[in-house]
Amino acid sequence: MDAARAGRLQGRSALVTGAGSGIGRATAARLAAEGARVYTVDLQGPVDRQADVTAPGINAALVSEVVARHGGLDILVPCAGISAFHPLEDHDDGYFEQVMAVNVTAVFRLIRDAVPALRQSAHGRIVTIGSTMARFGDAGLVAYAASKHAVLGLTRAAACELGPHGITVNCLQPGAIETPMTAPAFTAMPEFKAYFERKAALGRLGQPEDVADVIAFLCSDDARFMTGQGFFVDGGAMTRQ
Ligand code: NAD
Repeated sequence: MDAARAGRLQGRSALVTGAGSGIGRATAARLAAEGARVYTVDLQGPVDRQADVTAPGINAALVSEVVARHGGLDILVPCAGISAFHPLEDHDDGYFEQVMAVNVTAVFRLIRDAVPALRQSAHGRIVTIGSTMARFGDAGLVAYAASKHAVLGLTRAAACELGPHGITVNCLQPGAIETPMTAPAFTAMPEFKAYFERKAALGRLGQPEDVADVIAFLCSDDARFMTGQGFFVDGGAMTRQ
């Protein structure tokens, strides 16, 4: 990394959920490499705080902890998420509610509870994690696609409300990325993996770092006039019909 980018987030305080694995883990590493002090949260893995983001009151507690530890909060990346393939008729209420609880409600609560701290920052940044599933749907992904459409709407509305406070809110929408979330499907169905490789104009699946690097950009001053947007990081998959 060049010296300018290495210091781009110097002195910033960041909170990343889902940081025990995949995209969240790569994001935490990238923000730290750019100089941020990162507080990492996940159900599992080598993180600062093991917590379930759907637990009542947890999001306010996490914000208090990061502020106490780092003296403030500048960057919020709610990356914890869940996904699985389930035929629509097998979507029981509990499964649908769990997907919405992790992918939407916890994101909403964390943003809401972080606003007072972010308002104190001169560089407030929120990057939510959507999906290409917020533009299209796919069989077996009714709950997941609904949740990612919701995250995009939440992002746009929050950007309108928080803009006057200098806080930007953007949604990073990954395509097919090789992480523990997608590994079971890609291993069980090699043709599924090959389909996504063919679909991407760049001819490959994404790596967590491909996404993390763009998140770091959106968290930086370089992205200071960008807000309320969804950005596809998908190797050009969305350019194909
Ligand atoms: P991942 O499974 O590797 O990481 C997700 C992390 O979230 C895991 O470490 C998991 O423990 C954590 N998590 C789940 N539920 C939690 C909870 N209740 N409390 C705390 N932590 C919890 O998956 P990933 O691929 O890195 O996914 C990260 C984000 O990117 C998700 O929001 C996902 O929907 C999104 N996404 C991924 C892809 C992809 O192809 N991998 C594509 C589009 C969007």
